[in-house]
Amino acid sequence: MFEKILIANRGEIALRIQRACRELGIKTVVVHSEADRDAMYVRLADESVCIGPAQSRDSYLNMPALISAAEVTDSEAIHPGYGFLAENADFAERVEKSGFVFIGPTPESIRTMGDKVSAKRAMIEAGVPVVPGSEGALPDDSQEVLRMARETGYPVIIKAAGGGGGRGMRVVYTEAALLNAVAMTKTEAGAAFNNPEVYMEKFLENPRHIEIQVLADGGRNALWLGERDCSMQRRHQKVIEEAPAPGIPRRLIERIGERCAEACRRMGYRGAGTFEFLYENGEFFFIEMNTRIQVEHTVTEMITGIDLVQQQIRIAAGEKFTLRQRDVELKGHAIECRINAEDPFKFTPSPGLITNWVTPGGPGVRVDSHVYTGYRVPPYYDSMIAKLITYGDTREQAIARMHIALSEMVVEGVSTNIALHRELMQDARFHEGGTSIHYLEHKLSQRP
Ligand code: ADP
Repeated sequence: MFEKILIANRGEIALRIQRACRELGIKTVVVHSEADRDAMYVRLADESVCIGPAQSRDSYLNMPALISAAEVTDSEAIHPGYGFLAENADFAERVEKSGFVFIGPTPESIRTMGDKVSAKRAMIEAGVPVVPGSEGALPDDSQEVLRMARETGYPVIIKAAGGGGGRGMRVVYTEAALLNAVAMTKTEAGAAFNNPEVYMEKFLENPRHIEIQVLADGGRNALWLGERDCSMQRRHQKVIEEAPAPGIPRRLIERIGERCAEACRRMGYRGAGTFEFLYENGEFFFIEMNTRIQVEHTVTEMITGIDLVQQQIRIAAGEKFTLRQRDVELKGHAIECRINAEDPFKFTPSPGLITNWVTPGGPGVRVDSHVYTGYRVPPYYDSMIAKLITYGDTREQAIARMHIALSEMVVEGVSTNIALHRELMQDARFHEGGTSIHYLEHKLSQRP
């Protein structure tokens, strides 16, 4: 096992990784920007290194600064968390070339899956069902593009091969709008992701977002750890996640889970990962794979009892991966609400000083947060300040516990989306389960 790990991230996930390391008896080095100097997890770390100014590009995205920090502290491995450089194949490569272990998959896996066109190709080869569409980058020939759209059937969605974070997508309803939409998405993708390649998919009108968590050792042992339902979204960003997904026949989930595990074996996938699908009319359609730990990994931990971050570290350290599929037992139900420092209905960010912070507790309540009274939410990074997770024997119990937990939670000094979550916990359609990815936006648009 490693003696010392460098955590190349910030916020709640930096603390989450730190906790996993402490439980495993591993020393931690935390890197931080000038804006995060006073964070609690920085103080709790065995060592800390300031890697630059507040702006991410000068700190959390600064590869030479991160590698030097690992060198001066004699760290053995680097955990990238999520966001920032977690899915940057060049970073993984530089980490390894500098003699450190990258806690994640190989640079090749990251590269293949990071390009959504090559990811889809790999999935088709592995027998994983994908959303029908161009099945490759769109050609320059306009006639050919028009033909593909006609064959796919409108509406279609034009997506950037290098896209992420819900950006670089455009829905097209009519042939008249197609070529212009393709040109605009290409220009934007070139500027935002340094890759102008775009592809086409059928735009599914009422799907749910269902994803499969995997864990694999880079060889033949690959497992799937149930599914998560992340359909409650706004602007393609997840707001609430839960596991298991309500109302989907287990045999369908088992079949797709097995396919994902088999795809991991085929590509020699190593570590934790997530296969994201759209689910409509009883069918799964692959949209992308995330080659990192995800924000919502917690709900899977709650229903499996498996610590995914510790597993990532154990696999990276080359420990024998002894978990088997039959050891993965799904029990109960878990829900996660992302608590953001923002206006609950206008969604404008609300950074600033937290003057009072009281977190809920009791049976089945978990709070993953780096925040405390007196903490200042910096304006430079994403607005998530906590993840509130509840667990119950049944979905009803998990929802009831979430409702109580939200009512106990006190945050003063900044605005948060707790009011929105409270409303959603009382929403009749949410209680029924199985709402589509458009439900939340639709509900919000109906507000007076
Ligand atoms: P990103 O990497 O930016 O998160 P994804 O491909 O995972 O992009 O898509 C993000 C979200 O966009 C999905 O969860 C879904 O809400 C929507 N979406 C993507 N592709 C389609 C599609 N073919 N039909 C309908 N919605 C889609």
